Order: sequence, then structure tokens, then C-alpha cells
Amino acid sequence: MSQIPQPRNRKVRILATLGPASDTPEMIEKLFIAGADAFRINMSHGEQADKAKLVTAIRALEKKHNRPTTILVDLQGPKLRVGSFAEGKVMLETGRTFTLDDNDVDGDASRVYLPHPEIFAALEEGTRLLLDDGKLVLRVTSVSASRIETRVEVGGALSNRKGLNVPDVVVPVAALTDKDRSDLSFALAQGVDWIAMSFVQRPEDVAEGRKLIGGKAALLAKIEKPAAINRLEEILELADAVMVARGDLGVELPPEEVPPLQKRIVSTARRMGRPVVVATQMLESMITSPSPTRAEVSDVATAIYDGADAIMLSAETAAGDWPIEAVSIMDRIAKQVETDPDYYARVHFTETRPDATTADALAASSSAIAQTVDTSAIICFTSSGSTARRIARERPSVPILVLTPHEETARRVGLLWGVFAVHTRDIGSFEEMVAKGKRMALRYNLGQAGARLIMLAGVPFGTPGSTNVLHVVRLTGDELKK
Ligand code: ATP
Ligand code: MG
Ligand code: MG
Repeated sequence: MSQIPQPRNRKVRILATLGPASDTPEMIEKLFIAGADAFRINMSHGEQADKAKLVTAIRALEKKHNRPTTILVDLQGPKLRVGSFAEGKVMLETGRTFTLDDNDVDGDASRVYLPHPEIFAALEEGTRLLLDDGKLVLRVTSVSASRIETRVEVGGALSNRKGLNVPDVVVPVAALTDKDRSDLSFALAQGVDWIAMSFVQRPEDVAEGRKLIGGKAALLAKIEKPAAINRLEEILELADAVMVARGDLGVELPPEEVPPLQKRIVSTARRMGRPVVVATQMLESMITSPSPTRAEVSDVATAIYDGADAIMLSAETAAGDWPIEAVSIMDRIAKQVETDPDYYARVHFTETRPDATTADALAASSSAIAQTVDTSAIICFTSSGSTARRIARERPSVPILVLTPHEETARRVGLLWGVFAVHTRDIGSFEEMVAKGKRMALRYNLGQAGARLIMLAGVPFGTPGSTNVLHVVRLTGDELKK
């Protein structure tokens, strides 16, 4: 018999970015065992062929561990990046000059290729250029159609293809570049579960992405532009999830504006029932150190207390020296926070009033029942996963077991708070629902003899979008013997 996976003993999901430090099947498995629930593949770095290998490795892992695993492909979007360096990396000294030009050859400490001809014209003397999520600052001293001369105001190490932000200037860009379109069709052909769109500015950008995806994956909108904040609700309406992408957000805006925005984006997404990921620099010092700073631990904890669905690791797992340790630390922080007696009170500070639908009324009731009587799990029979989303939105105190006949659904719900999904045959009757729910709860250790289970399903069985049954049962413990 194949291995029976066990739910993680935590609600918040961990999303780990794969990169040179973690791109072998062995490392991916180690990250998974350490606690990664979902993997991010960033199309900003590397070739499609290498990304295909990652997808193959994750699907093999999924089979081996018999557990649906979520893959999110992050499209680069209209991000400005510098070219590469002959040495891979250079030191820019504060006070020196540095040139960005249109010459497609490897750079050094005096110059680098900037593969974005459209921005030369948008710059002028005095414009600030921010590199690597704002770690380095250059000031333009003169600009022509082929060269941008700058003075280094804040120096530091600059490596291949680091991002460039020009917060003071509106740079004319499309939501999806040619590269994004190619990467998107590649990702869809690979059967990935989520597509992340970068630098979304308008609801129309999301609509365009949705159209291109055509339901083949779910869509996550990365919130990293001030313009997106102004139209947050409209964007959330059209997206399946959002990410608080603090790297670019903290460059486009003064960094002190990011924490209140993080709170606002998380609570708005939660109210609207959209999963929300908090990302970037969560354990940044662990790129080079085996233990995090106290401030980083506190930052991870804050996102969990805010009720984020998932927390993400970027360079820590993609390119750091301690990828496994970074995931383990996140896992430990999460478990500690979630056992704090005040955790639920803090999470429920964000009120989520049910919409006027039967599914929402039942989702809210299931959470209330779990609060009132001793319950060990909420079991949700779902086809599209939409009921699972509404239950997760309630942030109930017990695990949410999602049973679905669709593998895609089982994988997609892997980003949702508190959800453990199982891909299993559909049920055809009420008796089957009860028997299967009990059996699955026992199999996945979500209840022992005497425990109550809450089940949600739709009658007639097998018709999507009709959740209208809430049933409470008690486990006798004999269910597995049959
Ligand atoms: P984004 O804006 O999409 O987050 P990013 O450049 O910040 O882009 P991350 O995926 O957040 O990329 O990873 C952080 C850093 O880790 C990168 O800047 C890069 O230095 C390194 N990195 C990540 N993935 C790769 C990769 N596949 N190859 C080389 N370096 C990588
Ligand atoms: Mg980004
Ligand atoms: Mg990043």
C-alpha cells in the first residue's frame, strides 16, 4: 500500500521558491518534508527547459508521498532588470560612476547592459534608479538614447539580472510581455496549478491574464505597484488569490508604507474570500546564516497573526545557503503562533461576514458548530474547490479536509489556509458521504472514536456548485474495520 500522507499540524501554508540552491529532486523532497506545501517557480530566472524538470520532479514527489502538491509559476511581468556580468557579480562603490547602456555584452564594475530600450527616453538627469529591491541606489547624471550615466549613491554588490525600479517616473509598459506570453503557454502546457501575474496595475490586466489562462490554472495577482492598491477590490474581484509582494512594493513606495498596506491587503482579501500570500525578505538573513534575526521571526509571526493563507520564501530557498533550515524555521514559528491561546482572537479580528448564499451560510455555520461543540474536522466534498475557499475564509479552529474527485482542485486548494486535500472518487449518496467522510477522517488522523465531524456537500451529488447539506456525525472507531 502506498504511504498515507498526514496533514501538517498547522494552518498557514508555506510556499517555497525553487532556484539553484534547491532545484534537484532530492532538495525539493527535503523542502517538502521540512514543511513546504507549495512551490514557486520564478520565470524571471533560467530557461523553460529547466523549469519543466522542476515540474516533473514535483509531480514525482507528489506521487511518491501520495499528496497533492501545489505549483505556482510566477511570470516576470514588465519588470526592468539589468543584464549579466562577466564575473556574475560586481561591487558598486558609493560615490563612483556607473553606466547602463544598450550594448548586449557582459558587464563589469563600470557598466552593464540594460535590455529595455523603451526606458532610456523616460529618464532625465536627477532620476533615481533603485537596484535589487532598493538595496542599491543610482542617480542619473546624464542620459542619451544609448547610455545612462549615473553616480552610485548607495553602493553594494550587484549580481546578474537584478531588478531595477524607477519609482519617480511612469514607465510605459504592457501587463504581459512577449516573454510572459511564451512562459504562460509553457506553464499551462506543464499543467501547473497557479499562475502569478507580476506588476498588475489595473483590473483589466487581470482580465487579460484570465482570458489567456482560460481556466487551465488559477490566477494570483501580485500586488507590488501603488496603482494596484488604488483598485484593490476590483483586482481581487477578478483574481483567485493575491500576493503582498513586498520587495517591489517597498521600492515603489516608502518602505514604512508597506506594513499598513500588508494589513489592508490581507484583510481585504480575507473578507472577499481570496487566498493571500505574504512574500519577500521574510527570513532574508537566512540566505547566508543558519538562524534568522529576531525581527524576521517576528515578521513571519505577524503575517500569521494577520491570518495570511500562505507565507513565502524567495531567495532563502532559491539561492540561499540554508534552504531547508529556512522552511523548518517557518514551520516552527507557525506552530508556535497557532498554539498561542490568543491566535484565533487575533485572526478573527478581521470580520468575514457571509455573503447571502446557502454555501456561505453553511460555511459560517460549520465554523460556529466547531466552536460550540467538540469537533475534530470539517469535511468538505467539493468539485471546484469554491466551498473549500468559503470554509477557509471563516478560519475555523479545526482542520478542513477537502475531498474532491478532481486532481486539479486538490492541487489548487493547497494554497488555502487550514486545508488538507485528498483526491478521491466522487460520492453518489448520502450514506456514501457519511461513510467516506468518517473513513477519511480516521485515515488522515483527523479524529478518533467519539469525535464529531462536520460534513458539507451538495445534493444532488455530483452537481458542482450546489453545497446545501451540513451534517454532523460522530465517529465510533469501527469505520476502518469494514
Ligand atoms: P521577483 O520580483 O519575481 O520576486 P526576484 O529577482 O526577486 O524576482 P526571487 O524568486 O524572489 O527573484 O528570488 C530572489 C533572488 O534569488 C533573485 O534575485 C536571484 O538572485 C536568486 N534566484 C532566484 N531564482 C534563481 C534562479 N533560478 N537562478 C538564479 N538566481 C535565482
Ligand atoms: Mg517581484
Ligand atoms: Mg523577489
